[in-house]
Amino acid sequence: MNRLSSVERATLERIDAAAMLARVERWAAISSGTRNVAGCAAMATELADAFAALPGDIELVEPTPTESVGADGHVTPLAHGRHLRLSVRPDAPVRLLLTGHMDTVYPLDHPFQTSRWREPGVLNGPGVADMKGGLSLMLEALLAIEASGTPLGYDVVINSDEETGSLSSAALLADVARGKVAALTYEPALPDGTLAGARGGTGNFSVVVRGRAAHAGRNPEDGRNAIVAASALAVRLHEERSPQLAVNPARIEGGGPNNVVPDLAVLRVNFRPADAAEIARARAAIDAAVAAVQTAHDVSIHVHGSFNRPPKPIDAGAARLFALVRDAGADLDQPIAWRDTGGVCDGNNIAACGVPVVDTMGARGGAIHSTDEFLIVDSLAERAALSAVTMLRLAEGALA
Ligand SMILES: [Zn+2]
Repeated sequence: MNRLSSVERATLERIDAAAMLARVERWAAISSGTRNVAGCAAMATELADAFAALPGDIELVEPTPTESVGADGHVTPLAHGRHLRLSVRPDAPVRLLLTGHMDTVYPLDHPFQTSRWREPGVLNGPGVADMKGGLSLMLEALLAIEASGTPLGYDVVINSDEETGSLSSAALLADVARGKVAALTYEPALPDGTLAGARGGTGNFSVVVRGRAAHAGRNPEDGRNAIVAASALAVRLHEERSPQLAVNPARIEGGGPNNVVPDLAVLRVNFRPADAAEIARARAAIDAAVAAVQTAHDVSIHVHGSFNRPPKPIDAGAARLFALVRDAGADLDQPIAWRDTGGVCDGNNIAACGVPVVDTMGARGGAIHSTDEFLIVDSLAERAALSAVTMLRLAEGALA
């Protein structure tokens, strides 16, 4: 700890562990699954109240319109909650981006709605690690920095749709990333504190195949079988897989009674590209496969979806930010390691904007996305300290 500056020490003294835990318990009691727009609205109001203790302007930003493709092939609008944006000292010479999400993976009718103590110091509850704990400690680090009088410039974005791919907040994230020196995202770290390094990307697609119905016995030659065409497309896309590109045709919906040639199928397929070149290759492969199947099966095909999470390699800028976080951890007696992962998050989108990001600055915890999700409560204070020291050093131009 003796490698900390006097400003850093003074800042750390402001961190209030009890206040952080109280917020986590309060926020975890608000059910805010991504599709629960009312729950996300309640959470947004709570967060706006809490973050109003910081200077700057808070707004709740309307979600970008997004759509979903039903099993009937129809496209319908998808409702999302508003996203919180706080902008503090926009004219500061060094500006940071801090991001988190208010949504969880637990819908309103999910049995996992309340928190309980698994054992002393370990809280089991919905979103306690992913990421209401992260939001609470992000706020605490900022409150401590403000109390210490350091004029930090930063934007905070807390979106309402991270768990389903940030489709309605991607434009907002890209907008606020512009001009930022670095970004910190508050996804949970592993139970031992290990951070996520490089992340692959992901893209989800719904492909609507329309053929022509006919009687399966009387005039099958007049039919154009959409299920067969969707299957042919799935096989062709699957053949494009490589160590750099996972391709998973996950589901084919459609069809009907045995005596009807089916005129509709919807193919759901996920791609996981390792880098930007693989995204380009996958796009070309989709176009080629669609053209070939349309011709061979005489069907019409519409592709919906996108590569919503670009891959996040560790480039030179990201490596410098990781080193800065690691050094801050060392000065706090918190050894920091990191490991590459197949998981994706908003860190992918921020990195794609050319802004270095460490995206697991949140609490230590585990079993996320399950009823065993837990938060190691001591990590709130640890991680708030790590964030505060990292931000103070960034404000001093450590990456400039
Ligand atoms: Zn998360």
